[in-house]
Amino acid sequence: MVKVFVPRERRPGETRVGATPETVRRMVKLGLEVAVERGAGEASLFQDAEYETAGAHLVADPAEGWPNADVVLKVTPPGIFEGLPGHEAEGLKPGAVLIGFLAPHRNLDVVRTLAAGNVTSLSLELVPRVTRAQSMDALSSQASIGGYKAVLLAAWRLPKYFPLLMTAAGTIKPARVVIMGAGVAGLQAIATAKRLGAVVEVSDVRPAVKEQVESLGGKFIELPAAESGEGQGGYAREMGEDFLRRQREIVQRHLSQADAVITTALVPGRPAPRLVTAEMVHAMRPGSVIVDLAVEQGGNCELSQPDREVVENGVVIIGPSNLPAAMPHDASLLYARNVFALLQLLLDKEGNLAVNLEDEVVAGALLTHAGKVTHPATAERLTSSEVPA
Ligand code: NAD
Repeated sequence: MVKVFVPRERRPGETRVGATPETVRRMVKLGLEVAVERGAGEASLFQDAEYETAGAHLVADPAEGWPNADVVLKVTPPGIFEGLPGHEAEGLKPGAVLIGFLAPHRNLDVVRTLAAGNVTSLSLELVPRVTRAQSMDALSSQASIGGYKAVLLAAWRLPKYFPLLMTAAGTIKPARVVIMGAGVAGLQAIATAKRLGAVVEVSDVRPAVKEQVESLGGKFIELPAAESGEGQGGYAREMGEDFLRRQREIVQRHLSQADAVITTALVPGRPAPRLVTAEMVHAMRPGSVIVDLAVEQGGNCELSQPDREVVENGVVIIGPSNLPAAMPHDASLLYARNVFALLQLLLDKEGNLAVNLEDEVVAGALLTHAGKVTHPATAERLTSSEVPA
């Protein structure tokens, strides 16, 4: 019988969990044996008793859970934490499966350890964005929460109303919100800001998103038509500095009138494009708010800092690095379903582990397997990081 372990996340600020009572119930139904570390779901408001009712048994000591598991379901990459006998990645037995947001490019040492330990690891960031894998798309389920929460943060910090209000004391104008990057997070931010009654303007380099922006009630800011930012797989490509300069010039006019700016612009595998310079911040209205969701990739705003609030010229700049963790109940509900959907792909009809390397979703998400780093870009990074300077 395949043994699944769900440890408590130990990274500071992480409140989510890799399985919920709902997904535990579904795993048990498939014939898996599920162990959950005591308190694993507490920060997401899932109690130990609910996991037990769903069919899991509780484990007090993670040092017991890790080495006995055939499958470990995580949110964040394994690490070294107080109270554990060693690195989490070293606690897995050979042949075990690890699923989580493993952020391989930032955790090359962990990748090396997983490969050396013969662990089969699947990183949710690597799940190909094909129709069949939509139920496993944790990047999207979490980005959507980020976009929603970013607007709420901006509304909370703004010394103004978002909606147009006609009151006995006169009229209040609606807030003007500029959203940069209309991918999953940006589209949810547009929808949320519109629901709150703001006037929303949007900048993106992929012309294809114009229609999506308009269908949500946003106004698309037209950019120089000479270059399309459409890259591969529905993502943007990195634009040249000349284009970005012209984009900043155009967007600047909108920023100077904005009350809130939500930036979500990313280019896969590259630093976040610099869309808001310090000079542009200085031209904004005091009291306005910037929420930079790209802060972990270097930030879309020159002045944003991870998990800090910076005030410059009266403009509040917030750089939250993990907004889904600020809404852990629903974030975990969706995340755990994504993880469960991916785990199902690794099981045969009898409920035994069967890693099918021919499956494009499994092959795409696979980071390490059978002692090797199977993700080409990470393998390349590892090789170049080993070359002596
Ligand atoms: P992302 O997080 O990589 O980027 C966010 C946005 O930033 C993108 O819209 C991108 O075009 C934009 N951007 C990049 N450079 C910019 C710049 N200089 N200025 C302004 N904006 C810039 O993207 P994402 O949210 O992961 O989604 C990318 C696309 O993939 C979306 O169109 C989404 O609908 C699509 N998608 C498809 C599937 C699927 O088919 N299964 C699943 C999820 C997402």
